[in-house]
Amino acid sequence: MGEGRIQKLVIVGGGTAGWMAAAALRRHFQGGPLEITLVESAEIGAIGVGEATIPTIRGFYRSLGLSDAEVMRATQATCKLGIRFNGWLREGESFIHPFGHFGQDLNGVPFHHYWRKLAEGGEPTDIADYSLGASLARAGKFMPPPRDPASTASVYDWALHFDASLFAQLMRRVAEDNGVRRIDARIVKVNLRSDDGRVASLDLSNGQTLEGDLFIDCSGFRGLLIEEALGAGYEDWSDLLFCDRAWAVQSEGVGEPMPYTDVTAHAAGWRWRIPLRHRHGNGYVYASRYISDEDALAELKAAVPDALLHEPRRITFTPGRRKKVWNKNVIALGLASGFLEPLESTSIALIETGIEKIKALFPDRDLAPELADEFNDWSRREMERVRDFIILHYWANRRGDTAFWRDCNAVALPDDLKRKVELFVQRGHFVRYRWEMFAPTSWMAIYAGFELLPQGIDPALDGVDAKALGPPLARMRQAVREAVASAPTHGAFLDQFSRPA
Ligand code: FAD
Repeated sequence: MGEGRIQKLVIVGGGTAGWMAAAALRRHFQGGPLEITLVESAEIGAIGVGEATIPTIRGFYRSLGLSDAEVMRATQATCKLGIRFNGWLREGESFIHPFGHFGQDLNGVPFHHYWRKLAEGGEPTDIADYSLGASLARAGKFMPPPRDPASTASVYDWALHFDASLFAQLMRRVAEDNGVRRIDARIVKVNLRSDDGRVASLDLSNGQTLEGDLFIDCSGFRGLLIEEALGAGYEDWSDLLFCDRAWAVQSEGVGEPMPYTDVTAHAAGWRWRIPLRHRHGNGYVYASRYISDEDALAELKAAVPDALLHEPRRITFTPGRRKKVWNKNVIALGLASGFLEPLESTSIALIETGIEKIKALFPDRDLAPELADEFNDWSRREMERVRDFIILHYWANRRGDTAFWRDCNAVALPDDLKRKVELFVQRGHFVRYRWEMFAPTSWMAIYAGFELLPQGIDPALDGVDAKALGPPLARMRQAVREAVASAPTHGAFLDQFSRPA
């Protein structure tokens, strides 16, 4: 059996994807005979953005034996309760997409039906008042979720904002401590086998030739192995998602850090602002069809409120996915596998699920084609679901002020997304497919934030008097208010929790 096993695994690239894969796979194989080598080029460097995460990242590093406090200290991290959308619905209005629930489901009927019934009865309320995560975020406060979820009106989760290069360094430390070998060299040539076209080895700038049975391509957008060597093909989604460029810049960190990512609509895209302990991350994600690089840069510079730490960096990308993420003996991970855009911070989370897929479907040397088929099918569906969630944010805007936002309204929704929106608007139904990264609570936050509200209410509530819902729902809001009042500010929490030892 040992004969048929993959013996040499080569990871190409030492950005966030490469080092996450190295750390996680080394641990997965528990000191077994699999040899893992990572080759990266310090000269080329990593992309250096990717600072906002979703809560799954905490499960990822916990599985490596790291605690929240350890990771936060090592990466200058702050807490993220969700995302605040500014001006996406209309100029001057904001809403929060929290990681967590709104209110409590009663008698097996989702909470939002009760919330709508109360409003129909003449008592409209803000759905964020039922979310402890959103309410803490609005108040600039933070505390970890109570252990007993029943003790509060809504449960929530949290993620991190971290310095991407420090996080990659941390992953590198974990990987190397556990036996991953690192080579700092440029890959100058990819050698293919003449019989089956698989990758045989890599020629490196230091004169070495590196052989492998299986290669994980984490080389970033270019996809050195998956695309340049194997020509896996790329599905371009620019007709659905218009943004294809970003200016990114770090600025001084002044004032109390917000416990959320700020994303603000601009003329032809949106701007992120991510608070870290030692600085802020900022960027303008825009569509080059609608604004010039120079004008986008000027908009960004005018909007960042604190001193810039360097000249902004321009990054270009094509929203879409690699058609065959697993091709022959190469599996692409991270930006090499595709990229939608930074909204909703899905790219690192897709690295996590990619690693899970690699573990679950890890091949032998015969590379059974069924494994690659399953991997590619799963990856496609997952990426399409995430894409659809992001499209919703643009399509639902009611700004109407620029051609960019008007054209976003006119996008032809993919069929699955169309069905989801229709079913929700008709009667508050959620459709949840397999491979969905975002739970119904996240969809609810975006629907409510964009005022896409159900026209019908669940018939289970036909016998419920709307007036009678007033007191129990008021109690839920009160429980949220009390919990917020007892929480420390985000800054005070960080000082206590992740103070250097
Ligand atoms: P890279 O960081 O590009 O790493 C590629 C590696 O390959 C490097 O180590 C490089 O040296 C190596 N390499 C390349 N060519 C060679 C060669 N010839 N020889 C040797 N080595 C080579 N994701 C989130 O989850 N949250 C966010 O908030 C977020 N914001 C983003 C904002 C922008 C504008 C962009 C573009 C992306 C953002 N992302 C975000 C995505 C995130 O940055 C990436 O998913 C993450 O950084 C992983 O990148 P990577 O490791 O795949 O690629």
